[in-house]
Amino acid sequence: MPFIEVRGLVKEYPTATALRGVDLDIEKGEWLSIMGPSGSGKSTLLNILGGLDSPTSGSVMIDGTDITTLNENRLTVFRRERLGFVFQQSHLIPHLTATENVMIAQFFHSIPDREEAEEALRRVGLSHRLNHRPAEMSGGEQQRVCIARALINNPSLLLADEPTGNLDRENTKNVLNLLRELHEEEHFTIVLVTHDPFVSRWAEREVTMEDGRIVKDEALY
Ligand code: ADP
Repeated sequence: MPFIEVRGLVKEYPTATALRGVDLDIEKGEWLSIMGPSGSGKSTLLNILGGLDSPTSGSVMIDGTDITTLNENRLTVFRRERLGFVFQQSHLIPHLTATENVMIAQFFHSIPDREEAEEALRRVGLSHRLNHRPAEMSGGEQQRVCIARALINNPSLLLADEPTGNLDRENTKNVLNLLRELHEEEHFTIVLVTHDPFVSRWAEREVTMEDGRIVKDEALY
């Protein structure tokens, strides 16, 4: 059984149909990118995989659990225990330091541990930024904090929506290389949404969406 099994996923909004029947299997430890033009349904699919949105119909099995049938409390626990999120906007808390921003994620999961949070930031190359606030860091550094925060509780699935969307090419490369290193070490599954072929190339497999459907699915290497 695949780690993630999506079947017949449909999402209708009053004004638009975002997903028109998506079937997708994702293996454990795979790095998959979801490509496609703006409005093709990428974010909707990612949000449903993360339990941030619910489908009109269809199912999403993750590691044996159909998350579309969980109530809000169980879904919250599932997200907390199993998932990490990185978005285009960093969503860091402005008045907290890098270390404290990571500790917040520990707090919501279990117990804050400063040592462990600092170690995670060192791991993403931020040993010189532990006590800096978001505004005192570059965009690339802020996204590194986000990666440390997303991975601090050892999720089995990392969901990323245009994580380098605000970065220049150099910082994009740095952040993706970092993600590759962490992925090689920890073997968590990555699903990354992007409209940028340059970013998509870091994945092992690429699915392309058009108008709410998967129109292409290919291994990249
Ligand atoms: P992408 O991530 O590929 O840009 P989205 O998943 O954001 O695409 O959107 C797919 C379609 O669903 C678009 O037509 C979009 O306008 C529509 N859509 C997305 N979210 C909403 C919403 N909350 N309310 C209404 N329509 C939405």
